[in-house]
Amino acid sequence: MIRILLLGLFFYFGFRLVAALARMLFHRPAAPPPARRQQGEEMVRDPQCGTFLPRSDALSAMVGSERHYFCSATCRDAFRGKG
Ligand SMILES: [Zn+2]
Repeated sequence: MIRILLLGLFFYFGFRLVAALARMLFHRPAAPPPARRQQGEEMVRDPQCGTFLPRSDALSAMVGSERHYFCSATCRDAFRGKG
């Protein structure tokens, strides 16, 4: 019988602990993501939607005789279709 009581207490305090942790997590303001990018990385502009993004993240494509950088294949295809 004492075992069941101990088990009950264990779950009760376990639940309290989890609830407190969850409260802490949900009330904490979102921290900015860690800066994983190297400083000074070249930013390029998507000519289709105007978004600036790091060149390593951009999709590059030759359109005509010029190289352009895009945020997504959708923009690239749209830009190609336009030109
Ligand atoms: Zn875009």
